[in-house]
Amino acid sequence: MRITALAGGVGGARFLRGLLHHLSGRSDGPHTLTVIGNTGDDITLFGLRVCPDLDTLLYTLGGGVHEGQGWGRADETFAVQGELAAYGASPQWFGLGDRDFGTHIVRSQWLAQGRTLSQVTARLAQRWGLPEQGVTLLPMTDVPVETHVVLEEDGEQRAVHFQEWWVRMRAAVPAQRFVVAGLDRAAAAPGVLGALRDADVVLLPPSNPVVSIGIVLGVPGVRDALRGTAAPVVGVSPLVGGAPVRGHADACLSAIGVESTAAAVAGLYADFLDGWLVDDGDRDGMVAAAPRGLTVEATPLLMRDLEHAARISGSALDLALGLARA
Ligand code: GDP
Ligand code: CA
Repeated sequence: MRITALAGGVGGARFLRGLLHHLSGRSDGPHTLTVIGNTGDDITLFGLRVCPDLDTLLYTLGGGVHEGQGWGRADETFAVQGELAAYGASPQWFGLGDRDFGTHIVRSQWLAQGRTLSQVTARLAQRWGLPEQGVTLLPMTDVPVETHVVLEEDGEQRAVHFQEWWVRMRAAVPAQRFVVAGLDRAAAAPGVLGALRDADVVLLPPSNPVVSIGIVLGVPGVRDALRGTAAPVVGVSPLVGGAPVRGHADACLSAIGVESTAAAVAGLYADFLDGWLVDDGDRDGMVAAAPRGLTVEATPLLMRDLEHAARISGSALDLALGLARA
């Protein structure tokens, strides 16, 4: 079975690690998983290209992630960051550990040598053992794009990089809107549209619907590929009981004028979504408000550990396999 998934960082990576665990226990293999990662969070820091969502996917699927945080490396040290701070180098609000720095240094070196982000990501993925697990990790585009957040302070509008809003401001200043520099001209990376078209199943993990999935959907051709694919498309709600499990998805949704409910998030995907998995606590809210033609199932959606994530991803996969597109 060929499975294709769109993904942001922590929510996407935990779900997909659970999916691999689930697949390893199924008898109907072999299976392949193509992950289309969000690159709207990417940022250049200290001259190095940092791709937070791709890195979270690499570290999580490769067994090197800091479990408690959900991002960054396990067993991390911060000598380089300490040295940078001693020089007064900025920014100091973005945490970069020494092991993590290694990834950004080698990525930046390979990019500077003329390789595309797809080629660089494939090389990084080798080190983390993704090909052996049947996983292909694709950036959504090879063109640098960056999500910016428009804020209004004292009657004046200004834009900051998404990471500054998310990490430094903790999304506490209300966003007026999101602007993704370069996205309208960003061609999908090689393999992205084909992976959607030729998939047997397409899954949307519980990633942030606005600044993770929403950005991938903005890459020209991606939305059309999802509308046109013969594969069933099934999503998992990132909201549990009407609230994001972690992160500030509610602040992102309110910036685009969408309610923080599982039904409203499904509405963002209504033109291509076939199945929607919600938390038990959101079942009643879905009954009244589900977009027409959408098959909804409910199950506990908290990914407390690998076993829970595997069960949830198995439910999403089974829901998809039960939905054949006409
Ligand atoms: P980020 O790029 O690191 O912010 O990660 P993602 O965009 O992939 O995922 C963030 C989303 O994951 C948030 O909106 C959370 O609500 C959601 N999320 C995190 N943990 C869980 C969980 O255990 N269950 C569900 N259903 N959603 C989760
Ligand atoms: Ca992210």
